[in-house]
Amino acid sequence: MAPYLYEVLERLIAFDTVSSCTVLPAVEYLADQLDSNGLKTIVHRIDVLGVPQANLVAYAGPPSPDGLIITGHLDTVPFEGQPGWEREPLKMTVEGDRIFGRGSSDMKGFLAQCTDAVRTLEWSRLKRPVVFVFTADEEVGMLGARELAPALRGLLGEVPQPALAWIGEPTSYDVLHAHKSICSFEVRVRGRGGHSGAPDQGVNAIAVMGKVIEALGQLQAERRSAANHEFADVFPESPYDVMNLGTVRGGLATNVIAEECLLRASYRSLPKTDPLALYEEIKHRLAAIDRHDYASGSSTAAIEVDLLLAAPPMWSERGTRLETVLFEITGNHSARGAQFATDGAWFSGAGIQCIICGPGDYEQAHQPNESIRVEAFERGPAIIRQVIERMCM
Ligand SMILES: [Zn+2]
Repeated sequence: MAPYLYEVLERLIAFDTVSSCTVLPAVEYLADQLDSNGLKTIVHRIDVLGVPQANLVAYAGPPSPDGLIITGHLDTVPFEGQPGWEREPLKMTVEGDRIFGRGSSDMKGFLAQCTDAVRTLEWSRLKRPVVFVFTADEEVGMLGARELAPALRGLLGEVPQPALAWIGEPTSYDVLHAHKSICSFEVRVRGRGGHSGAPDQGVNAIAVMGKVIEALGQLQAERRSAANHEFADVFPESPYDVMNLGTVRGGLATNVIAEECLLRASYRSLPKTDPLALYEEIKHRLAAIDRHDYASGSSTAAIEVDLLLAAPPMWSERGTRLETVLFEITGNHSARGAQFATDGAWFSGAGIQCIICGPGDYEQAHQPNESIRVEAFERGPAIIRQVIERMCM
């Protein structure tokens, strides 16, 4: 049992940092901890969707090139209304070989490990800088990192921006070098309402949305059968673009012609392709849909497509120094990419090569009764210190 490590995790879990809430109190707490352990801290304040948010940057070491970024996000996915919770989401509890609490795996466990790891490092031994970056709003499109990535160079002043970043997202310490881009979009079908007894007087938006969903399903099937073998090792489960129908909402009552229907969906495209190419294809396909409903009236529905978010892929060269060091220290080797997106989407765009490797379990992320293994949690600070020693000392 490492009391400080557990104390930090307990405090972090207790902050409600669901993406719609502000992470500022958690940032201030971590800034205090890191500051008192000899790091220079910068609170990078931003406004996200009308909520005051902040990213935290903390660094140490000389202004030399070839430093290292170690990064994770502070926000979590919601727990309210999520079925299956048998514990208090914001209260850390240790039971058997697991530690429970929202964010334990994704990814406050890693942040607690970073905070603990720096207590026993001798900063005077650093030959290259180490930069901790803790972000807001990762779970809603990596919005904190999107703001931070272009500003980081300026925030670091005379310290050159490191070209390598270690992202501690939950992988059970597997070492992953890539992920797909992610785009989300909405499709709005506007029909014409009316009494259900006279269907030919209106256009049922839900019926036309059915055709939209059919067209998207067709497109997904085509992408699946045109799998790209270049990515067979990186994304063995799906070496192609994948799509998800997220939410659909429409209609008023069983005896009213549905006037409007709204679909929200997302897709993930393979790296090395334009993330927006599939969006253009979707717009093209939906423009060709017959907009009549089953009633064969003369009116047609309108279909509008809007892009909600487009985040780039992450693609790092194999064999970076960071990958080699993580392979050696964790003993886990992989040629694979992650099935989820990370802040690395935006860091990659700023010229930073990222590797994902963290103590949490991917299966635990976003789940009720989220937990992390005691062994993986307690092992973390030593791993972080070894990585810093090998990379920066
Ligand atoms: Zn995460």
